[in-house]
Amino acid sequence: MPAFSSLGLFSTWFYNKAMGYTDKLKINTDKCVGCGICAKNCPAHNLKLTEGKAAAGSQCTMCYRCVNNCPKQAITLLGKEVVRQATI
Ligand code: SF4
Ligand code: SF4
Repeated sequence: MPAFSSLGLFSTWFYNKAMGYTDKLKINTDKCVGCGICAKNCPAHNLKLTEGKAAAGSQCTMCYRCVNNCPKQAITLLGKEVVRQATI
């Protein structure tokens, strides 16, 4: 069973890591125009529009979809500004 134990440990580690990074998700409400693209594309349903601005919950999995698809570069995960966006 060591493989399962390792998997369990990794899952716990990743979960804790992700929860830590969730706190780092920042939405610049001055830049946000409330288009809803981020909320529509978030696989974790972690984003929603509140009073015309994007707002984050606490279930971010760090997939970067919102960061990469925001037309106003209003979302950052690590760092203070978006310097490059990527689409796959
Ligand atoms: S994609 Fe960007 S501009 Fe559009 S709602 Fe989300 S944060 Fe705001
Ligand atoms: S990084 Fe991914 S999971 Fe996290 S809020 Fe953005 S789209 Fe959702």
